[in-house]
Amino acid sequence: MRPVIVVHGGAGDILDELVKGHLTGVRVAADLGYRILTQGGSAEDAVEAAIRSMEDDETFDAGRGSFLNQDGDVELDASFMEGAQLQAGAVAGVRDIANPISLARLVMDSPLVFLVGEGASRFAESHGMSRCTPARLLVPRELAYWELKRKARLGDTVGAVALDCTGHLAAGTSTGGRPMKVPGRVGDVPCIGAGLYADDTLGATSSTGAGEEIMRVVMAKYAVDRLEGGRHPQQAADDTIRYLQTKVNGSGGLILLDRQGRFGVSMNTRRMSRAWRSDALSGEAIEP
Ligand code: ASP
Repeated sequence: MRPVIVVHGGAGDILDELVKGHLTGVRVAADLGYRILTQGGSAEDAVEAAIRSMEDDETFDAGRGSFLNQDGDVELDASFMEGAQLQAGAVAGVRDIANPISLARLVMDSPLVFLVGEGASRFAESHGMSRCTPARLLVPRELAYWELKRKARLGDTVGAVALDCTGHLAAGTSTGGRPMKVPGRVGDVPCIGAGLYADDTLGATSSTGAGEEIMRVVMAKYAVDRLEGGRHPQQAADDTIRYLQTKVNGSGGLILLDRQGRFGVSMNTRRMSRAWRSDALSGEAIEP
C-alpha cells in the first residue's frame, strides 16, 4: 500500500498574521508524519508525530498557544482512533499535559475510552508521562486576546489522518477549544464520531469548527459513512459540510481519507489550513 497523510491546522477566520505560520506548521507536520510512513511506521505513529508538532507550535489552538477560557485558563481536549479494531481514546479539560494527543493515544491503548480533567492527568503520570506547568501552555498572544475579551473566533484546532503501508488507518484531533469558553466546556474534539473517526473498511477523518454543531450531527461518523459504496472522499466531505450547514447552521471543515488513499477536504469557513503527502501528491493550502 502507498502511504498517505493529510493534516489540518483548523477551519475558521484565521487571522492574516497567522497565515504564514499556519502553512509552515502544517507542512512541517505532514513531512514528519509522511517520513514515518515511508519508513514503514504505523498510521498511529504518523498521526501522533504530526499532531505533536502542531501542539508544540504555538500558532495553533492546541497544546502550547491554545485559546484561554473565561477564567484565563487553558483546558485541552484530544482524541485518537485506529481503524482495525475501532480502538479509541479521548481526554478533555486537561490543564497540565503538553501533548494531549499522546495522552489520548495512551487512553486508546488501555481498556478505557474517555478521561477528563485531573483524572486524565493522574492517568498520564501513572503511565510515565510528566505534567507540565499551566504556564508552559500559555502564550502572550492569547493572554492579550483574553484581556481584550474580544468575541469568539474559531480556527486553529489540529488534526491528522494517515494510511500506512499495511493499509491501516488512524486519525487524531487536538484542541484548546473555543476562545473565552465557559470553564468545563467540552466541544466535539474528544467525542468519538464527532471530532474524529477511523475504520479500516471505509476511511478516517478529523473535524474542526464549531464544536456544538459538529456534535449534534455526529459529523465524523457521518463523513466516514458517506464513503460506503466507493464514493470519492471529496464528494463525501462536501456532502458532510452541506449537511452541517443545512441541518444545524454549523460552520467547520474536515479532512477525509479513504482506504485506497484518496482524500478530500471541505469547509464552509473563510480559511482552513491543511497539508497532504503521498507519492503522487504533495502540497499545502489555507484558502478554500
Ligand atoms: N472544534 C473545536 C471545538 O469546538 C474548535 C475548532 O475546531 O476550532 O472545541
